[in-house]
Amino acid sequence: MATYRIAILPGDGIGSEVMAEGLKALRAVEAAFPGLRFECKEYPVGARCYQETGTDLPSATLEACKAADAVLFGAAGLPDIRWPDGTEIRPQITLRFLLDLYAGIRPIKKYAGVPPVLAGDPRIDYVILRENTEGLFAGGLRVGGHVAMDSMVITRPGTERIVRYAFRLAQGRHGAPADGKQRVTCVDKANVLKSMAFFRQIFDEVAREFPGIETDYAYVDAMTLYMVQRPLRFTVVVAENMFGDIISDLGAGTIGGMGLAPSADVGDTHGVFQPSHGTAPDIAGKGIANPIAQILSAGMMLDWLGQRKPDVQARTAVKAIEAAVEMTLRDRRFHTADLGGAAATGAVGDAVANQIEKAKTS
Ligand code: ATP
Repeated sequence: MATYRIAILPGDGIGSEVMAEGLKALRAVEAAFPGLRFECKEYPVGARCYQETGTDLPSATLEACKAADAVLFGAAGLPDIRWPDGTEIRPQITLRFLLDLYAGIRPIKKYAGVPPVLAGDPRIDYVILRENTEGLFAGGLRVGGHVAMDSMVITRPGTERIVRYAFRLAQGRHGAPADGKQRVTCVDKANVLKSMAFFRQIFDEVAREFPGIETDYAYVDAMTLYMVQRPLRFTVVVAENMFGDIISDLGAGTIGGMGLAPSADVGDTHGVFQPSHGTAPDIAGKGIANPIAQILSAGMMLDWLGQRKPDVQARTAVKAIEAAVEMTLRDRRFHTADLGGAAATGAVGDAVANQIEKAKTS
C-alpha cells in the first residue's frame, strides 16, 4: 500500500470549485486501486488569504508544500486584490522559485468529444515545456514614475536543464501525429534577442546528446501560426518563461479551452500540479466552471509520483483518469458552458469519478 501526502491549495475564484472535483477523482482512484491512498490536507493561499492575513503564502502553507509528496493547486489571484505596485497576487509563481519547479509541463491534447476548434478537427497531442524560473519572469525594476523594465534572463544551467528535460520527455512519448517522429521544437526569438540566440545555442549543444530525437525551431511569432495551421507536427515544444506562458494559453485554445488544459510545475524534488487556467472571476461562484483541467492535473500528479517511487499502480491510475475523462467528454450531457453545454461543475466531476471507479471491475 502506497500512501501519498498531498498538500491541497484551492486558492481563489473557481479554484475551490474545481478542486472539489479533483478530490472526487482522487477518492475514486482510491476506490478503484486499493493499493493507493492519499492523505489530503488543505492550506490557505492566494489573494483572499493576503487580504485576510497580510500574506498570500503563509509560512505554514509553504512548509506543508515542502513536506508533502506533492501539491495539488487550484488557482490564485483576483483582479481587485493586488500588490501596491499594481501587479496581481501570484503565490503559484513564488512557489516555482522557492521550490525550484523549473519545468512547466503543459500537455496540449485534444480529446474526442470536445467540439472541433480547428478546421478538420485534428487530434492534437503534444507537450509544451515552459522554463519556469528565469526568462522574462526573473525580476523587474521600476524607477519612480518614469521607467520600468523587465529583463530576459537566460542562464546556461537554467537552459541546459530545461532543454534536457524536453529531450527526455520526447524520448518517453509517441512521435508527432503527423509523421510519427519524436522531435523537440525550440521556440525563441533568436533572430532579434541576444538572450534568445544564447538559448538556441544551448539548445543545439544539448540536442547533440540525443541523436535519436529530431530538432526543430520556430520564432515565437511564427509559432502561433504553426500551432493553428499544423499542430500535428509537434512532440515536445520548449520555450523560456514568458513565451511558454503565452503559447500555453494558445495551445489550450486549440484543444477546446482553458478548462481542458492541465499543467505540472516540477523540479528535481518537488511538484505542484494545477490547471493552466486562472481563477476565472467572471464565472466564479456559479457552479459552471469546467473541472477537467483540475482532474487531469491530479492525473499528472499521480504520473509524477508513480515515476519517482516507482509505483506501477499510480501510473495505471493515470490511465484510468484519462480514460474516464475521455468517456465523459464523449457524452455531451457532461459538457460545461465553455464547451457549449449546460452541465454543472459537480455533475462533470461525478461523471468522471464514476468512470474511474468502473476501472476497478473492468
Ligand atoms: P491567469 O492570468 O491567472 O492565468 P487569466 O486572467 O488569463 O488568468 P483565466 O482565469 O484563466 O484568465 O480565465 C480566462 C477565461 O477562460 C475566462 O473567460 C474564464 O471564464 C475562462 N475559464 C478559465 N478557466 C475555466 C474553466 N475551468 N471553465 C470554464 N471557463 C474557464
